Amino acid sequence: MSRFWSQVVRDLTPYVPGEQPKIANLIKLNTNENPYPPSPRALAAIQAELDGDAARLRLYPDPNADLLKAAIAKTHGIAPQQVFVGNGSDEVLAHVFMALLKHEQAILFPDITYSFYPVYCGLYGIEYQTVALAEDFTINPDDYRGRPNGGIIFPNPNAPTGCLLALDAIEAMLKANPDSVVVVDEAYVDFGGESAIPLINRYDNLLVVHTLSKSRSLAGLRVGFAAGHPALIEALERVKNSFNSYPLDRVAIVAAVAAMEDRAYFEQCCQAVIATRDALTATLGKLGFDVLPSAANFIFARHPQRDAAELAKALRDRSIIVRHFKLPRIDQFLRITVGTDAECQALGDALQQIIG
Ligand code: PMP
Repeated sequence: MSRFWSQVVRDLTPYVPGEQPKIANLIKLNTNENPYPPSPRALAAIQAELDGDAARLRLYPDPNADLLKAAIAKTHGIAPQQVFVGNGSDEVLAHVFMALLKHEQAILFPDITYSFYPVYCGLYGIEYQTVALAEDFTINPDDYRGRPNGGIIFPNPNAPTGCLLALDAIEAMLKANPDSVVVVDEAYVDFGGESAIPLINRYDNLLVVHTLSKSRSLAGLRVGFAAGHPALIEALERVKNSFNSYPLDRVAIVAAVAAMEDRAYFEQCCQAVIATRDALTATLGKLGFDVLPSAANFIFARHPQRDAAELAKALRDRSIIVRHFKLPRIDQFLRITVGTDAECQALGDALQQIIG
């Protein structure tokens, strides 16, 4: 705290990301990164960008990242005018809150969800109300009906539960809220969900947000995008061009294009993560955990007899890190990122030892 701080800064409660440990040899299952490397084509594109004419780095990148918008549009069968790109989906989401969710009425999101949403509300002065998840931790679309609001946002699958909402339920929400933007944050959709992107042609109030951090193994590159009606995209461009004209650097643009184009590698990595997730779910089930059905690259699990914070600590003592949220309703859960088969085997062995 300092007398130089603005009132806005005094009032902020910043988001706290999962730990990025500096210690070697930890099994890192705490921030939902992909255990597999990025597409070799993405790595080759970075190399070519640097080898080709590294002096190009003296020039600004394309402020509109048109090549990347074209690659995303092609992958999803939409038009480039329906695509917005940003420096990680966190930046895209920040612009969404400012451009499309800041209205007179409070916005709605689930009581258990991505904990960055209330932080953006704090930053931009947006009122919000939370809507309780059902007992089984799923979103009930009826709870978002007949409640005037300034917008709706939720991840699908939800975070940190991993639970999936079906597309027809999302469509019902869009129809019930024609005068607000419904934002579906599909950070994890490639691990078992069906994307709502095809619906953007029919609903001008739908915005779908994606990231290349998870299913395309590029968390370190920082690339995310949104798909929606061109008028929604224009709103995001207006905010972006009032904030930072060049959110994606030259290296990020070429690598993201190559990653989008390498469909075979993407599908192979997603299938591997899904297979390991199902095996891990079975292993934890045998150890007595309740595991929520996950359509993501992480699982959310609790042990009826063991305290989650103590389990997290015992795992850490064995060099395995998972995420524990000290929050109402979920403080007895652990969120465990799906790693490689070997990492998940090590986690299972460690839990077996701890639980005995
Ligand atoms: N949405 C959700 C639901 C997430 O869990 C995350 C990752 N923390 C993000 C968005 C942001 O991902 P990124 O900024 O890496 O694209």
